[in-house]
Amino acid sequence: MDHIRNIVILTGAGISAESGLRTFRAEDGLWEDCRVEDVATPQAFRRDPELVQRFYDERRINVMAAEPNAAHHALARLDAEWKGKLLIVTQNIDDLHERAGARRVLHMHGEALSAWCTACDARHRWTGPLRDAPPCPACGAAALRPDIVWFGEMPYRMDEIYRALGVADLFVSIGTSGAVYPAAGFVQEARSHRVRTLELNLERSQGSQWFDETRLGPASELVPRWVEEILAA
Ligand code: NAD
Repeated sequence: MDHIRNIVILTGAGISAESGLRTFRAEDGLWEDCRVEDVATPQAFRRDPELVQRFYDERRINVMAAEPNAAHHALARLDAEWKGKLLIVTQNIDDLHERAGARRVLHMHGEALSAWCTACDARHRWTGPLRDAPPCPACGAAALRPDIVWFGEMPYRMDEIYRALGVADLFVSIGTSGAVYPAAGFVQEARSHRVRTLELNLERSQGSQWFDETRLGPASELVPRWVEEILAA
């Protein structure tokens, strides 16, 4: 672990699984209850906004009821103590990294606790339901949607992510299946810059073959151990 200064971390639903938030593709995953085309695309929202709003109203309630676990806390400690560059890119829409105390966090797929006005483009922290089409606090239009990047939409802040990968010494992927692009391609992007790559996941993922090293186990155990290791190095 010599010469590591800049770190990019990618987190997925697996880091929040032990906080009680279901992942998408597990046996009991979210997508078992509903089809992605019905709730997580712009077409679905146009076709049946109430169904989509209800789905995300429920996600919001679950997120607020969940608590960060040892993996979130370990990354927050790393964020506080790491002197080099650090970017935690999360695919998660929950705020558990922030509630654990992490600051250098980027939500590439949006946030459950944010509402986006499609009339005036304002974003608002949102903890209540959206299914009754409440007015936008800024412009009054009943045009709020979940501030979530749906399938077919462009993830947020991609330039920033690729810039960070370009100057990283280490890329770490935690609790993600490697099934959803562009995030699934970050490991190859990192390799193209000769960045070391490490995967921490419960089981081998679709992307495991691309990593220099894969460690298998629950995030609540693997992440604190890795953080100890990197801070001690
Ligand atoms: P995914 O469901 O496709 O994969 C989760 C991965 O985590 C799997 O490889 C699984 O083996 C692993 N995993 C499960 N439990 C784990 C644990 N305790 N410790 C370590 N690893 C564990 O999720 P993904 O890769 O994040 O899929 C991408 C999409 O899922 C994203 O768009 C993301 O926005 C969305 N999502 C977010 C949340 C959330 O915000 N908490 C929840 C579900 C899905």
